[in-house]
Amino acid sequence: MDNETQQSNKSEEIVNGKIEEEIIIEEIDMKAKIVTFDIENMANLLWSWSIYGGSNGWRAIDVEHEWHILCFAYKWLGKKAEVVSIWDQKGYKPMIKRLKGGATQFSVPDERALMQKMWDILDEADIVVGWNSVRFDTKKVQAKMVAMGFKPPSPFKEVDVMAKKKQICASNSNKLDDTGVEWDLGRKLPHSGWSLWKGCAEGDVKSQKKMERYNIQDVVLTEKTYLRLRPWMKTHPNLNYYSRDIKACSVCGQEKTLVKRGWAPSGQRRRQIYHCAPERGGCGKYCSGELLPQDPNSKIIITK
Ligand SMILES: [Zn+2]
Repeated sequence: MDNETQQSNKSEEIVNGKIEEEIIIEEIDMKAKIVTFDIENMANLLWSWSIYGGSNGWRAIDVEHEWHILCFAYKWLGKKAEVVSIWDQKGYKPMIKRLKGGATQFSVPDERALMQKMWDILDEADIVVGWNSVRFDTKKVQAKMVAMGFKPPSPFKEVDVMAKKKQICASNSNKLDDTGVEWDLGRKLPHSGWSLWKGCAEGDVKSQKKMERYNIQDVVLTEKTYLRLRPWMKTHPNLNYYSRDIKACSVCGQEKTLVKRGWAPSGQRRRQIYHCAPERGGCGKYCSGELLPQDPNSKIIITK
């Protein structure tokens, strides 16, 4: 962090004989930091009496090794996507080791370093974007962090694009791949299914590289869906609250794109409507200003 973006000055002054500590913060760059992320996790290793679902349904007897996170991809808005993988961590040993004579040895990789990197990103982010992330990705990483005794990262808002799509669109499918096709934004990378996950756990470098590309494509596609849907979202965090510029588009943060588009009545008062005008490079979002008194020149005769 450089001097221009954050400077903290502590000065002490004596008020009524008591030393009051005053913290003065100058020149903070308050623009919201938006990150899109996606995790890929390994399956549980289970014991079972049967491989078929009987009348009571299939069930595991016991968990031998719990699921772990293989890798996660993240993308700061408009920046290059990055991936962090368990196999790149210090001291990593593959979960599955084939021994001579046909035996197999299992061990669970240490996820602490991986989760620390994830924690750093969540801690830095103001807004965290994902596909089904509120129900899945965020909770999966939180499950690990809580179990490992991490303290919470600084607060962040979540935008789950899949949940938003369900609110806004009645589409045939809410899967990321289908949405990429529906909105003509691209597709998820194809993969061979379970053999790819197993290959990663066996330490197969080709499988691991493929998993990383698959993971990266997921965040790239998720960010595209986020940007497509963002102007339609009614409950996106207002970016003005992260900025000193108090008159920017509430979802994309641009200023010069805004044009006034009349008023929205609210009870006996009204709000100015602003349009983040596409013809000026805007995202198309209609934003509304603060609640103002009615125009004194307009005479409202009938009030009920
Ligand atoms: Zn905008």
